Amino acid sequence: MSTTAKAFAALAADAPFEPFDFERRDPGPRDVAIDILFCGVCHSDLHTARGEWGGTLYPCVPGHEIVGRVRAIGSEVADLAVGDLAGVGCMVDSCRTCPACREGEEQYCEGAGFVGTYNAPDKHLGGHTFGGYSDHIVVDRDFVLRIGHDEKDLAAVAPLLCAGITTYSPLRHWKVGPDQKVGVVGLGGLGHMGVKIAAAMGADVYVFSTSPGKREDAKRLGAKDLIVSKDAEAMAGHVGSFDFILNTVAASHDLDAFLALLKRDGTMTLVGVPEDPHPSPNVANLIFRRRALAGSLIGGIRETQEMLDFCRDHGLVSDIEMIDAREIDAAYDRMVRSDVKYRFVIDMQSLKRPA
Ligand code: NAP
Ligand code: ZN
Ligand code: ZN
Repeated sequence: MSTTAKAFAALAADAPFEPFDFERRDPGPRDVAIDILFCGVCHSDLHTARGEWGGTLYPCVPGHEIVGRVRAIGSEVADLAVGDLAGVGCMVDSCRTCPACREGEEQYCEGAGFVGTYNAPDKHLGGHTFGGYSDHIVVDRDFVLRIGHDEKDLAAVAPLLCAGITTYSPLRHWKVGPDQKVGVVGLGGLGHMGVKIAAAMGADVYVFSTSPGKREDAKRLGAKDLIVSKDAEAMAGHVGSFDFILNTVAASHDLDAFLALLKRDGTMTLVGVPEDPHPSPNVANLIFRRRALAGSLIGGIRETQEMLDFCRDHGLVSDIEMIDAREIDAAYDRMVRSDVKYRFVIDMQSLKRPA
């Protein structure tokens, strides 16, 4: 039993997006069916659809920054009702029994790994999962988030489901707070949320960017200043001064330029996943000040709900540019040129408009 979903899919790594229909399962007792109203466009969607990481299953329907309205609930779902606003992020399931899952860190599931919202095996219907560039989705209640923001902000809430949690989780894990000097490398979708959230946590935030034209935006988002990372003199003025640096860059680059800016015991955490590896960092840069280079993957469901509530309480949403589904390829091309202010969000009503 299933219903037909309308979507946009990439049929191959070098093919443009095109309209695509597929089947979603009917909601089981623990499922929630959501009419998707908006879906953010993450750089991971681009890496996947264009085959940059390898392993892409086609047809590929990306999208893991999903917000919408509950259309139906299963008989065992007691805490969501038809008509509620709801969100779905990067995961739709996990083993639930391993230590990571039991601790609410499903993104680090030690069973078969978490089930991605797209490009993962679909145990219900076979084949692979399809994401949020579609008109509805059916997800286990345990992987559905509540949206507490005002409904008028719904489109700008969508990017919190990936860009928000991927920056919130490491900022929390490394205990960013007042009186700390925090750097955010790359002012794109993740970076701009990192700036907003770190500033709301009370840190002094600096943006490292390859785009000098983003300085005023960086300050408006909550940063003290923007440092042009290619300006050696500007970078030298900050050597040994940062407590924590969150690196969101989506391309291979020199990590030493940033590691040298950390204090003793400072950490730089990578969240960007470039197509090609970074050049190996200089060991001396790490050992002489006991600096750490770390990584972080999205965040668990419990922490995602905490992040959504934190953003609601602090009045935080994403800065978005709304697009139609037919504009996905053009949006991807602009994302490659770092020309995003600061997240594209697809208006899913556009699926219903004639071409
Ligand atoms: P995005 O919106 O395209 O932003 C990336 C930013 O990086 C750009 O706006 C640009 O900022 C900077 N940049 C791009 N190319 C660069 C280069 N060659 N050298 C230096 N800086 C460059 O991408 P996003 O959606 O924020 O995603 C960023 C990365 O995180 C992607 O690789 C994505 O797959 C990954 N990601 C990881 C996780 C996770 O769980 N770890 C979750 C989501 C996404 P400036 O103009 O300011 O330089
Ligand atoms: Zn993402
Ligand atoms: Zn698990």
